[in-house]
Amino acid sequence: MEAYKKFQQHLSDELNAIRQAGLYKEERIITSPQSVSVKLTSGQEVLNFCANNYLGLSDNPNLIAAAEKAMSSRGYGMSSVRFICGTQDLHKQLEAAVSRFFGTEDAILYAACFDANGGVFEPLLDENDAIISDALNHASIIDGVRLSKAVRYRYANADADDLEEKLKEAQKQRFRLIVTDGVFSMDGNVAPMDKIYEAAQKYGAMVMVDESHSSGVVGNTGHGVTELFNLRGKIDIITGTLGKAFGGAVGGFTTGRKEIIDLLRQRSRPYLFSNSLPPSVVGAGIYTFDFLEKSNELQDRLHENAAYFVKKMTEAGFDIKPTQSAICAVMLYDAKLSQEMSRLLLDEGIYVTGFYYPVVPQGQARIRVQLSAAHRREHLDKCIAAFVKTGKALGVLGDVK
Ligand SMILES: *Cc1c(COP(=O)(O)O)cnc(C)c1O
Repeated sequence: MEAYKKFQQHLSDELNAIRQAGLYKEERIITSPQSVSVKLTSGQEVLNFCANNYLGLSDNPNLIAAAEKAMSSRGYGMSSVRFICGTQDLHKQLEAAVSRFFGTEDAILYAACFDANGGVFEPLLDENDAIISDALNHASIIDGVRLSKAVRYRYANADADDLEEKLKEAQKQRFRLIVTDGVFSMDGNVAPMDKIYEAAQKYGAMVMVDESHSSGVVGNTGHGVTELFNLRGKIDIITGTLGKAFGGAVGGFTTGRKEIIDLLRQRSRPYLFSNSLPPSVVGAGIYTFDFLEKSNELQDRLHENAAYFVKKMTEAGFDIKPTQSAICAVMLYDAKLSQEMSRLLLDEGIYVTGFYYPVVPQGQARIRVQLSAAHRREHLDKCIAAFVKTGKALGVLGDVK
């Protein structure tokens, strides 16, 4: 009790510091399924432009039916890790579906992509090896790299020249692995996979890409940055999530070379020491990959929506970061302005999030808009109109520029 008293004071101070810096994160409570529009506790119904629901599958009736069917036939929970008694036929089917989707040799499932990234480096590489990582890689990659003993190199975001410098330095090590996000979540830019692959060939490095924001989204048929850059089958390790485009529930995977996946099954700690995915999630996952192989309708609609939104917003005079994904950063630069504008947009029935330092660099505040295949033209038009209205009210858009 006494011990906690001091600690409690320490925590209160920390929390106050977060609040005073204006960085305290409040959660908005939704009382409806995740969808193109959501209901809030206030009773207000708003159009959702901040979910990773890229293909609009979060509340798709066919996924729900597939989940229900799998739960009825295979039960609610697995009560085990995979290697003890937690592997069903469905898990193997989903792993095969992931491999087919990415054109890889094998796949291994995790409870989340956070775990996939947390458990991929440590079993494969040691102090004799090098990991060369993009400066803007996802937190889970950063944490995963920390858990390994490999020598770390960091290159500037999507900068192939800087990568090359780091690769030269890393010639000292035995094996080299370059790791990058496929799409960077704050700007929506894609990793320059063509140049990364070329540098990897030149300097004898393997390549890993995290396709969390890119799979289902980027490339003509939504197969991710390996499709966009024509690198199918050439990337050594791909990680990804079931929590974004692929239905948005939960679950992650690593897919790639057979021996890599084999060794992860033997040694990857989040796989060995954490529960199996439940049948409902796995069943819906199998359905999703099946569906996406048969139809390109959702991917096409997403691409159309993203292109339309970016075009109309640019024409309206907004400063939009170049994007090759379903992420559209509306640049405002000022932190307070980003918060004020997202608040006014919510009043207009548009749910978006303003991001500012330290989530993005100082002076780079923005509102991030995420497009979905579920958005209809009228939703996009309503969102654009609300941006124009609030942009004028706040002096973001004006006659004088
Ligand atoms: C969202 C995301 C993750 C985390 O995925 P979860 O399955 O939610 O843990 C990992 N990496 C990247 C690049 C992401 O965008």
